[in-house]
Amino acid sequence: MQIGPQGTLKKANVFTFTNVKLVPHHLGVTFVIDRRLINGSKIGSELAEDMTKAGLDRIRSCIQCGTCTGSCPSGRRTAYRTRRLIRKALLGLREEVLSDPNLWLCSTCGTCTERCPRKIDVTEAILYLRNLSCEAGYMRPEHRDVSHKLIETGHAVPIDDEKWSKIREELGLSPLPPTVHSYPKALKEIQHIIKQTRFDKLVNYKESKKDGKT
Ligand code: SF4
Repeated sequence: MQIGPQGTLKKANVFTFTNVKLVPHHLGVTFVIDRRLINGSKIGSELAEDMTKAGLDRIRSCIQCGTCTGSCPSGRRTAYRTRRLIRKALLGLREEVLSDPNLWLCSTCGTCTERCPRKIDVTEAILYLRNLSCEAGYMRPEHRDVSHKLIETGHAVPIDDEKWSKIREELGLSPLPPTVHSYPKALKEIQHIIKQTRFDKLVNYKESKKDGKT
């Protein structure tokens, strides 16, 4: 018996939400997700509660319709499945969600948020999970490198090397663009904000790293 557009709860012994099933279990409820059985006693609500406190309370109204996954341009090309991550988050599979590299394949285009029939800010939920993922130490090495570049230069992708300066000069431009590269004071301000917000700690940046001491 299935919960779904055509389903009812009568005589149910298996409840299905797309690929997530609830099976009555002598120790409680057993969830089936990604073809795995997960005993209900191992499932916590802490992650969903954190999300609720962060203003993402609508996530609890998710009906697992899959519109987010079906609309996702990233999901068309990668293993990123929005609905599945939301479901796992609601089931409290904290470590599994936060350590999932697919979490980083969202391009934050916002299509899921626009189309979600339950008006859940799905993109914001994914960003929140990414923040928790970083705090838990699961930041991707590539993202860490980019963050370190931002701290050191004010640019995620610095464009002050010889190659770019030469091209700019050939085009009749100044060697450096009118960005932080040209304004050392602005870089100091950025670094001040980064310290105040503890972003440097989050991305594990060590002052001495830029001098090649670590
Ligand atoms: Fe849940 Fe909204 Fe995604 Fe449907 S579109 S699965 S309701 S988050």
